[in-house]
Amino acid sequence: MSQVVIVGAGPIGATMALLLSKKGIAVKLVEASRDFKRLFRGEGLMPSGLDALEQMDLLGLLAEVPHRAIDAWEFLLSGRTLFRVDEPIEKNGKHYTTVVSQPHLLAAIIEQAETYPQFEFIQGEPVGDLLFSSDRVSGVKLASGQEITADLVIAGDGRNSVIRKKAGLKLTKLQNNLDILWFKLDSGVFAKSANIFYSILQGREGFGLFRASSGQFHIGWGLHADDNYDWQQVDWGEKLAATSPPWLAEHIVKHRESLTKPMLLSVVVGRCDRWSIPGLLLLGDAVHPMSPIRAQGINMAFRDVIVAVNHLVPLLTQSSADLSKIDAALPQIQLEREPEIIRIQKLQAQEIAQAELLHNYAFLRWGAKTFAPIIRPGIRASWLRRQKQLRQGVTKVCLVV
Ligand SMILES: Cc1cc2nc3c(=O)[nH]c(=O)nc-3n(C[C@H](O)[C@H](O)[C@H](O)COP(=O)(O)OP(=O)(O)OC[C@H]3O[C@@H](n4cnc5c(N)ncnc54)[C@H](O)[C@@H]3O)c2cc1C
Repeated sequence: MSQVVIVGAGPIGATMALLLSKKGIAVKLVEASRDFKRLFRGEGLMPSGLDALEQMDLLGLLAEVPHRAIDAWEFLLSGRTLFRVDEPIEKNGKHYTTVVSQPHLLAAIIEQAETYPQFEFIQGEPVGDLLFSSDRVSGVKLASGQEITADLVIAGDGRNSVIRKKAGLKLTKLQNNLDILWFKLDSGVFAKSANIFYSILQGREGFGLFRASSGQFHIGWGLHADDNYDWQQVDWGEKLAATSPPWLAEHIVKHRESLTKPMLLSVVVGRCDRWSIPGLLLLGDAVHPMSPIRAQGINMAFRDVIVAVNHLVPLLTQSSADLSKIDAALPQIQLEREPEIIRIQKLQAQEIAQAELLHNYAFLRWGAKTFAPIIRPGIRASWLRRQKQLRQGVTKVCLVV
């Protein structure tokens, strides 16, 4: 039976480790952080991600971890509702978009993996380097100096991947004019009302707001490359209230002492030309970092894992590993996954472009606000059309092993 080392216990690493362990494959999962809760981790799962969890037999775990469904999407421009769409937006849709506590979900998935004796979780130890044997990756070296050899290394170490750099794979960055400032705020009287994901635009500024799995409001403020203020000097309680419709402004003022300090989340978007070298496969943000727009990265990560597992399990369960067959399978995984990633990144860029138009042109904002009742059906229909692939995925992804 083969030995696999997985670097990073995010959505890629945790699910990959569990699915391989379930098939009897020996897996060592190495995670740098001591505590899942200390990193910022996105929460939004689209129907495509929920479907992937269901295929991995993990959807039932949601009952055990903090989560809540999104009930509707509402777009507000200068205090006026542009349009609203209820979830699930598909006729007879099976899944509502759902926010899930990622630290709890990852911990629950790893707990399942730990029931398999051939699984080992090494936590609080960053991988510092790759080991090579005759030009093939043969394992990893931890920052502590410990070396772990493997028939295959899988990197799921996220958008600042060390493994990508050590493997000499170049990330081509795609244009991204947006970073995010993240805040949390008590939801107070709204704690029991419908969970609406608001996209709020006031003048050139805007933010998204929803109730997260914890029940608190989470706020993602769009920081544009051309913003001419120092975000660290801003009174955010005041600025958020000034950008909000009256009901929300009142709430922010009332609960401003619960508003957390802004956390800057720098966004990286891009793709590598190659997702593998002999002995090493990169998946998820390590090889195609995703924008946070319309919550795609976790969903794409789960779908990467399903495709990779389909290709790898038949080879890794052989009594003795045929390394050349494993290496030959790695580019096939990229071939199957890349079209969806390219398309989804393009759709995310289109969503940002729409927001940028309103950010850049005052007359468009004026027109959209003034003529909202007339243009509402057209804008709503166009938004719905664009959401289909962002919600369902682009290619068919089925777990077959
Ligand atoms: C602001 C923001 C909000 C987002 N919101 C959402 C959302 O709501 N929904 C959504 O689907 N996507 C969202 N995304 C994107 C999503 O977070 C990522 O696409 C997704 O987490 C990628 O999963 P991953 O497993 O590839 O990497 P990550 O989730 O980044 O996991 C990588 C793991 O590797 C570990 N690691 C890193 N280096 C090492 C090392 N050297 N050794 C060992 N371990 C290491 C890290 O500690 C981490 O646990 C958001 C992104 C941003 C920036």
